[in-house]
Formats: sequence, structure tokens, C-alpha cells
Amino acid sequence: MAHVAVYPGSFDPLTFGHLEVVERGCAIFDEIIVAVAGNAEKHPIFSAKERYEMAKAILAGKPGVRVDRFAGATVDYVRRQGARVILRGLRSLSDFDYELSMALMNRQIAPEVETVFVAASPGTTYISSRLVKEAAAAGQDLSPFVPPPVAEALRRKLGRT
Ligand code: ADP
Repeated sequence: MAHVAVYPGSFDPLTFGHLEVVERGCAIFDEIIVAVAGNAEKHPIFSAKERYEMAKAILAGKPGVRVDRFAGATVDYVRRQGARVILRGLRSLSDFDYELSMALMNRQIAPEVETVFVAASPGTTYISSRLVKEAAAAGQDLSPFVPPPVAEALRRKLGRT
């Protein structure tokens, strides 16, 4: 049986931190589904479609990786995919609180689905989508944090081209 893990997230936008989690997931699972969440309550700067298209463009052709988008509860999406694992990344203690609550909540709803965490890498642990957006708004060089198409999309979105 193929071991499939769903890596859900806002990816607003996708960063080198997210890509690191994908890499680590690829070393463990047969397939990673990078699942872009359409959750509106987070007020993303990129629409779900834009975040999905960006992730697809960056990860296209990567063996063992599929990019998809979903709305609604993550566990429902995971079940629809026939997967049993949710993959998430942990950077810091502040991630831990939220991530643990979410994992326990999801386990309560779907006991057959396990959340697996990978530890952030030293080189990318400080990268967050929120700080990348702040750096973009301040006109900083984004090349250490995000792939070139994302930097370009941020510049366009913020009217900096
Ligand atoms: P969400 O809104 O679902 O938290 P994010 O796109 O912010 O979506 O994050 C998706 C997942 O990726 C989370 O588990 C988050 O902790 C993880 N992540 C984000 N940045 C990094 C990073 N630099 N290193 C490791 N994991 C990360």
C-alpha cells in the first residue's frame, strides 16, 4: 500500500520553509499531497487559486508530489484522498501549542488519521509567510526566503514592479 501524506496549509505564500517540509516528507512517504486550504477567515493576500497556481508552478514535475486545493475541514479532505497522514512542520514553541491542539482535535474527529510533524531545518526555521509578506511590503530582497516566482508574485501584488 502506498503511504500518502497530506501537507495542508495556507501557503500564503509558499516559502523555502514549506519546501523543506515537502523534501522531508518525500523521504518518508510515497506521495505528498500539498493541499492549499481555501480558509477565508485568515484573510490571505493571495486568493486560494493564486496560492494553488503558485505552489503548482513551483512543485510541478517533482516526483512523488501532487498539488491540490480544498475547502472545508482538513480531515474530510484527507479521508476523501484515502490518506491516513497529515504532515505538518514545527518551527518553535509558538507553533507547538497551535499544532498540538489541531492534531488532537483532528484525532478526535478522525481517529484513523495521524498527524506527523517534521522539525524545521536550521537554515529555514525562521522563515514564515507572515514575515515574508512584511519584508515584501518593506521592499526587501526576498531571495533568501522564497523561490523567484513567489518573490515576483509578491512584488506584483504589492504594486512594486
Ligand atoms: P497554516 O495556516 O495551515 O498554519 P502555513 O502555510 O502557515 O499554514 O503553514 C503550513 C505548515 O507549514 C505548518 O505546519 C507550519 O508550521 C509549517 N511551516 C511553515 N513555515 C515553516 C518553516 N520555515 N519550517 C518548517 N515548517 C514550516
